[in-house]
Amino acid sequence: MNFLEERILKDGIVKEGNVLKVDSFLNHQMDIALIDRIGEEFYERFKDKKITKVLTIEASGIAIACAVARCFGVPMVFAKKSKSVNIDGDVYVAEVESFTHKTQNRVIVSKRFLGPEDHVLIVDDFLANGCALQGLISITEGAGATVEGLGIVIEKGFQFGGRAIRNLGYHLESIAIVESMDAEAGSVQFADQGK
Ligand code: 5GP
Repeated sequence: MNFLEERILKDGIVKEGNVLKVDSFLNHQMDIALIDRIGEEFYERFKDKKITKVLTIEASGIAIACAVARCFGVPMVFAKKSKSVNIDGDVYVAEVESFTHKTQNRVIVSKRFLGPEDHVLIVDDFLANGCALQGLISITEGAGATVEGLGIVIEKGFQFGGRAIRNLGYHLESIAIVESMDAEAGSVQFADQGK
């Protein structure tokens, strides 16, 4: 079991509706030593790639993306949720459905911060149905930039997002893959990634 799987078993809470709550260490209160270690783990997994930017989506991806970007020594850019109806031509736009809130969000990235010369590592805290990642892929490719890889902290392997993105040929790495979980028993099983 790796450091993250151990922490999920210790402090994660399984909720009804296939939601794993990790807000005591990952996405509300944050354990910065753990976030730094996550950054180093993604650096190890992607260090052979030429990364010029780390891209994530607000809010909970930001801290993780900061730790990753520091290891690579490159800027971090986050897609912002935008309520504005009139989007000018200075931004890339994607529509992303929130898994946890079931709402549709329009996210934007300024054209000043992403371009055809960029090699992008996309990171996020969770992967469920893959909407958030698909939105970030579409923004990156819309900018003419290259998706070098995707790094996810916790993938819910029983939802289809991970499979869909790997089937498209992207290099997706997840530090923990939850194979199944049970709210009543409070139990979590991980996929054996052989790492
Ligand atoms: P997707 O777009 O892949 O369906 O969902 C990914 C997004 O939904 C993540 O950015 C994350 O914020 C949120 N999310 C999905 N599943 C969970 C979960 O089980 N727990 C928490 N805390 N967030 C989740």
